[in-house]
Amino acid sequence: MLITVTYTLPIAADEILLDTAAFSVCATDVKAASGAFAYCAPPLILGHECAGTVVEVGSSVVGLAVGDKVVLSYASCGTCQMCEGNGDAYCVELRRLNFDGRVVGAVKGEGGEVKVKGLFFGQSSMGRRIVARARSAVKLPPETSSREMCLFAALGCGIQTGAGAIFNVARPGQGSSVCIFGAGSVGLAACLAAKLSGPARLVLVDKSAKKLSMLPACVREAATDLVDSSAFAAGRESEEQLIERLKKLTPGEHGFDYVLDCVGRGDLVKVGHLALKARGTLITVGGSLDIMQVTLSQHLAKGITYRGTHQGDSVPRVVRYGLSSSSVGKFPFDKLLSFYGFKELHTALQHVRDGRVIKPVLVCDGDTLLPAYLGSPVCHERTRRFDHGERQHGPYGVSGAVESQNQNAQYE
Ligand SMILES: [Zn+2]
Ligand SMILES: [Zn+2]
Repeated sequence: MLITVTYTLPIAADEILLDTAAFSVCATDVKAASGAFAYCAPPLILGHECAGTVVEVGSSVVGLAVGDKVVLSYASCGTCQMCEGNGDAYCVELRRLNFDGRVVGAVKGEGGEVKVKGLFFGQSSMGRRIVARARSAVKLPPETSSREMCLFAALGCGIQTGAGAIFNVARPGQGSSVCIFGAGSVGLAACLAAKLSGPARLVLVDKSAKKLSMLPACVREAATDLVDSSAFAAGRESEEQLIERLKKLTPGEHGFDYVLDCVGRGDLVKVGHLALKARGTLITVGGSLDIMQVTLSQHLAKGITYRGTHQGDSVPRVVRYGLSSSSVGKFPFDKLLSFYGFKELHTALQHVRDGRVIKPVLVCDGDTLLPAYLGSPVCHERTRRFDHGERQHGPYGVSGAVESQNQNAQYE
């Protein structure tokens, strides 16, 4: 629900206060609002993709000042072994910094004041004014326009996860065959990213014929083949039949070099594994409690690599995807976005549930009230980075690198 939250505590030394320009909805927010996650207790402000302007900085924050424009992503500690090795997505403090939250304010309840947690993914960004961990912020150039802010707001999680899984993890060479399971925002971002490597085959698989029929033109042009897997999902097609259908799309019918799963179904991941050619790579971003069952021999005999990735191994403070209008043209993630007014949040969420939009972006209008979105429980999520400037075929190698200057921010 939309409700006015009163911030009752000053921000901590490692935090910033932000006026949001826009925030977007990730599927994880929808799941969290429905109570799907047990370990983040409500009431809690949801949201974990946003851009805005800094209005206050904590005492230990370095490199950020009032008036700075920033885009937010997940939080990390910046000092552990993982963070020091550009493994922010695997920070040893990831759970505490992103999912434990802290009480940031209160709402009026029936029995008096009810405390509200924030800092979901280090930001809880579904509000006009939000508290965020400074480490979540990536500073934008001061000339960033309002329109660009609204576009970049969507880069904090799902899109960076899909694109990062391709740019940072798969790194397909020209002429590769790539298969992507799932036509949501993560899978479509991956598809647009994979297109940039010049694949021989780029296959997009989804169980929803409706979704596949509504794809933006840029995705339809990027994918060489669209595969409807509804029969498999409904049990009317065997795994062998789906594997055969998929492999027939690859050169020599040998199978794929890369399969990226953005769904999280064990039976589908198994299909992906078995649809790989020898020495192929299977990558999972679709987290779930499902289990993929392949024999050790199947895994060994073809020399398969199986890699999970959180946030596409993306490192927010090393954002090299060139936050500029020219890079949007090369990686047209803006075509995945639909825009709403701030107060249309519920409509936007319903449209996500109905599969009518891919990635809603809610544009804040500068109202002085400070409502925020309160879900039931809250959740966790995945992947960012795009720091592949050294790759010859990388789309952002010549784009301006945007680095957060708050790398030395101290955390409790
Ligand atoms: Zn860390
Ligand atoms: Zn997310």
